[in-house]
Amino acid sequence: MIKRYPTKQIFVGNVPIGGDAAIPVQSMTFTKTSDVKATVEQITALHFAGADIVRVAVPNMEAALALKEIKSQVSLPLVADIHFHYKLALIAAEVVDCIRINPGNIGDRKRVQEVVKACIERNIPIRIGVNSGSLEKQFEDKYGQTPEGMVASADYNIKYLEDLGFTNMKISLKASDVQRTVEAYRRLRPMNNYPFHLGVTEAGTQFHSTIKSSIALGSLLLDGIGDTLRVSMTGELEEEIKVGRAILKDVGIAKDGLNIVSCPTCGRIEADLVSAVSEIEKRTKHIKTPLDVSVMGCVVNAIGEAKSADVAIAFGKGSGLVMKKGEIIAKLSGDALINRFIEEVEIEAEKRK
Ligand code: SF4
Repeated sequence: MIKRYPTKQIFVGNVPIGGDAAIPVQSMTFTKTSDVKATVEQITALHFAGADIVRVAVPNMEAALALKEIKSQVSLPLVADIHFHYKLALIAAEVVDCIRINPGNIGDRKRVQEVVKACIERNIPIRIGVNSGSLEKQFEDKYGQTPEGMVASADYNIKYLEDLGFTNMKISLKASDVQRTVEAYRRLRPMNNYPFHLGVTEAGTQFHSTIKSSIALGSLLLDGIGDTLRVSMTGELEEEIKVGRAILKDVGIAKDGLNIVSCPTCGRIEADLVSAVSEIEKRTKHIKTPLDVSVMGCVVNAIGEAKSADVAIAFGKGSGLVMKKGEIIAKLSGDALINRFIEEVEIEAEKRK
């Protein structure tokens, strides 16, 4: 059982983060935020893909001024990502559900104070987003781009806000590699109880990001660390959400939908298992009830494997078996075999609703 680190709960819009809340999956648009139509389209696509929260970059005044219109056209909570420009933060804070800044790079104390005041007025949180590649000079000079430097920067920024009486915050500590990312989060975790936003920054292509994010985020989540996450990826945004959700499911935190166990196949294979699994995945996508199902290429290991599955299918020579909790309930061939298997999965899912 994963024992989650007890964190303070905050809200980004209507989405709780931290405490005993489910772990929301986030993403970030890559359109020019000033292009309202394109940004709204991307946010809508992310919503359909299952995102819980979306962040948009606010690098200039056009982007800041577009936020109001964007916000009026979407229903997902919106986070504005701002570096250096406190005036942009002030405009964003009037509209969005959270702002991501680093107080240390927003300007002098008076300016940070103004931003904090605006966030308090609207009761919106701030994400302190530390990136190993953009540490404040004093930390980079002292520690280099190391976990120690990232933790020192986060701690400095946290205390900066706390000194201003602000505690409605979450923290991220991203590096572009697994070891520094994991170490930084692990080091910072016992130092405060703010919710953590997990992510590996600039994680690379879909393939590399999936691996890096699965290792880093998976390790942290198994340690009980992490209250929200983003898988960052050079590629399709919807894939970020898919991978994020899969990580939560595979570490055993999220329990929605089917957990499909399928064999890697070998010389004993009696069917085109790749096509069969992909057909099963497609036809069961709508099922949100947590169920363990197994799909095996022959009957050698199938009976044993089927014992721990709610519903199982095993392909044999010319025909195959459908099993429930290890009991054979049908021996069929051709389309009838997969059809019956899916029918049984649907019945089981319905029963457990
Ligand atoms: Fe090979 Fe059968 Fe095991 Fe699949 S279930 S890997 S086909 S022995």
